[in-house]
Formats: sequence, C-alpha cells, structure tokens
Amino acid sequence: RDVLGSRGLGDVYKRQGADCKICRREGCKLFLKGERCLTKKCSFERRPSVPGVHGAARKKLTEYGLQLREKQKVKRAYGLQEKQFRGYYEKASTMRGKVGENMLSLLERRLDNVVYRMGIGASRAESRQIVNHGHITVNGKTVNIPSFLVSVDDVIAVKENKRELQMFKDLKDVKVVMPKWLEFDNNKLSGKINALPVREDIDLNVQEHLIVELYSK
Ligand code: SF4
Repeated sequence: RDVLGSRGLGDVYKRQGADCKICRREGCKLFLKGERCLTKKCSFERRPSVPGVHGAARKKLTEYGLQLREKQKVKRAYGLQEKQFRGYYEKASTMRGKVGENMLSLLERRLDNVVYRMGIGASRAESRQIVNHGHITVNGKTVNIPSFLVSVDDVIAVKENKRELQMFKDLKDVKVVMPKWLEFDNNKLSGKINALPVREDIDLNVQEHLIVELYSK
C-alpha cells in the first residue's frame, strides 16, 4: 500500500506495541497497524524474535505447537475471538472442497476485510471501525456488521453522506494492490465483488491444513 496522504481514525489503535508483539509471537508480519507496517518502524523488521526475555531462543515446536501457531496466526490476522474463528471452521466443514481453503475464503469475504482490501481502511481494525460506524453500504443499504459476508456482484461503497469526511477524501491519493476478485474506484468511492476469493488470492503465509488438523482432533 502506497500512502501519500494522512488518514483519519488514526487513534483506532491505542494499544501501542501490543499488536507488534503478536507479529513477533507468530513469527511473521500480520499487518495489524496499517501504514506503520510498511515503514522501517515495523517492530518485526527491527526485532523479529519472540517477545520476552527468552524470546531470541525460539524453541522447536511440537506437532501440536505448529498447528496451534498457525491457527493463532490466522485468528489474529483477522482479529477474531476463538469462538468466532472456530465458527468459520465449522461452516467451512459443511462446504464442498478443501476445508482449509473454504475457511480462508469465508474469512476474506467478511465485510471488514473487504473494506481493508479495497484500501478504505489502512488495517483490518480500522476497517472494522469504519463498518461499525455505519460508513459503508452494500448494494445501497448501510451495513454495520463487520462479519457480514459479501457475495459476487455486491457493490460496496462509502455512504454518500460520509464522502466529505477527510479520511475518505484522502483515499484519492491512496494506491493499493487489489486482489483480482475485487475492484474499487478511489474517485467514486465505490467497488464491486467480481468473484469469490480462492486460495491464490489470499496473500497469507499460512499452512491452513494444520488448522484443520488441530480442529478435527
Ligand atoms: Fe507491528 Fe510490523 Fe506487525 Fe505492523 S507488521 S503490526 S508494524 S510488527
């Protein structure tokens, strides 16, 4: 994400440092803090060791430990609680195809994630706030439920009477690399779901089959 303008809702994250510890714990960048994640200030870039006194000596993980870490990584990337997250696994298990890939696809279809992927919010947390505050419409109707699942051909837009807010005006100067299942027009502040996301669309470095193994025990 190439950000040229300043953004609103900058104080969404008050827990300075806590999010970065999550990345260090999971051993990868989870992009939890928006613009900061793309700068040299990123804590993981500066100190990738596990937080804590013995963090530098990363222990070899057991099979269970590996499964747990993969699950925690995805759960935290999308900012979900255990019960919510497991719900996606349960739902994915009832669908045709690979359970792990189904689960990731469902997570990607959450409205807060779509708002993030479209570049409307700088992080999933900020995008969730934007949805919660009723700034987003789906097919012309306000939807303030972050877990709302988008479908093909849905039109996602910034609500008309909110478009003059500085945070949305600034979007004209924001460039994002958009996955092909989505499109978004920075000037019209409106976008569309072109297709349902498949595994190759999801840039998350995760072995989802380990999560399935963990939950199916
Ligand atoms: Fe912090 Fe970097 Fe993780 Fe962003 S990617 S939350 S800056 S450690």
